[in-house]
Amino acid sequence: MASKGFRLGTVSAAVMGAVLAFAFGRVVGKNLDAVGETYDVVIASGRVMDPESGLDAVRNVGVRGGKIAAITETSLTGASTIDAKGLVVAPGFIDLHEHGQEPRNYQFQAHDGVTTSLELEAGTDDVARWYAAREGKSLINFGVSIGHIPVRMNVMHDPGSFLPTGDAAHRAATAEELTEMLAVIDRGFRQGALAEGMGVNYTAAASHEEIVEIFRVAAKYHASVHVHLRYAGIKEPTTGLAALEEVVAAAAATGAPLHVVHITSMGLKYTPDLIAMVEGAQRHGLDVTTECYPYTAGSTALQSAVFDPGWQEAMGITYKDIQWTKTGERLTAETFERYRKEGGIVVIHSIPEEAARTAVANPIVMIASDGMMITGAKVHPRGQATFSRVLGHYVREEKALDLMTALRKMTLMPAQRLANRAPAFLKKGRIRVGGDADITVFDANRVIDKATYDDPLQYSEGIQFVLVNGVPVVKDGRLVEGVFPGRAARAPISQ
Ligand SMILES: [Zn+2]
Repeated sequence: MASKGFRLGTVSAAVMGAVLAFAFGRVVGKNLDAVGETYDVVIASGRVMDPESGLDAVRNVGVRGGKIAAITETSLTGASTIDAKGLVVAPGFIDLHEHGQEPRNYQFQAHDGVTTSLELEAGTDDVARWYAAREGKSLINFGVSIGHIPVRMNVMHDPGSFLPTGDAAHRAATAEELTEMLAVIDRGFRQGALAEGMGVNYTAAASHEEIVEIFRVAAKYHASVHVHLRYAGIKEPTTGLAALEEVVAAAAATGAPLHVVHITSMGLKYTPDLIAMVEGAQRHGLDVTTECYPYTAGSTALQSAVFDPGWQEAMGITYKDIQWTKTGERLTAETFERYRKEGGIVVIHSIPEEAARTAVANPIVMIASDGMMITGAKVHPRGQATFSRVLGHYVREEKALDLMTALRKMTLMPAQRLANRAPAFLKKGRIRVGGDADITVFDANRVIDKATYDDPLQYSEGIQFVLVNGVPVVKDGRLVEGVFPGRAARAPISQ
């Protein structure tokens, strides 16, 4: 139909478009489409919300080669088209804190709108092996930190799995052991670890000197240190605030960026004071950030050092506030002792609703799930439903914060947290031409968490379409089987 001359004109327009795209990074899709370009996937007529540019308007989004290639009011042609009329088109959610990094976790997370799932608190002691195990087999993008906890467990021959129960929890390291830990952590960074993980509450015998030395390695690689603080709770002198002082000082002294994980379970009723300290540190030029999950319970291993004597006073709770995930039963003094010997994960009902709500609503506090491996029938619901719970419960029902702020806390802010260390994150967490096509399309009027403490293995509702590197993994609210478009989210390898 087109004459030869028109065809040539098309090519030069396309080339011109590419030049313009390179120069201006945006609007080129409109030019290309005007001359008949087609896309792999078109997301048509959705309410595009981009926390970076502030765009909040009905647009068509064209995806090609795993990238966002067009954002335009002009209608686009694609090999497949998603009708997003009445739906929000947002950057895919980036979860900085998810311990469950197995296929089943990724399915739950995809249903919750997560396109990049990162294990940055505990991390791993073998970064190369961790990535190799997931390459080409993952529904969503994945990434990991080099973790002080597993490194300390390995170097000190701790018998625990996941969290320490022996020497790594309860003994100071020798000079030789510390030297070995620093070397293993350094190797993890050279293998592309995204960050450094730390959980001082679980390695309670680690000295202040050890903590500062571990921070120093992160500083060398411009990597953030994702810390579960030394103390959780409300009893002086071992409050969450005192523990925050330790790592703010380590960050200030070494230059390593600090990221405080699950600030609500650390601060409990003093959560606003902890957030105020993070805000103050930011105001005075320190690179300190934090995150929370939208729940009033934490979760961890009962055999860990968190439950060493004194836990009741520290957290202001007792046996009945602890729930055994294998059965859902509340503990007694007797079952506490028995299950602590047996070992397993518990849910800890310790966080006041006011603390959870304050953190979720605060614009500087990112959203991260702290999801767990699914080892019991009554696992904490947070790994399955954190993001839908924020959008459905706290944004729509409670009006605790507005939708754009919520999206910023689960997309742009986590991407910015990691971009210094891993420039790949400059292309995530945004709806921007040239960015990765990690996109979550949801119904803001319907999105809601379905997972509960009693019935935790339920998919969230209202997350209608999820694209990972341009490939749909959720379509019409249902999981797409047999696709593995997830890629390693990794810092540059330097060995
Ligand atoms: Zn933690």
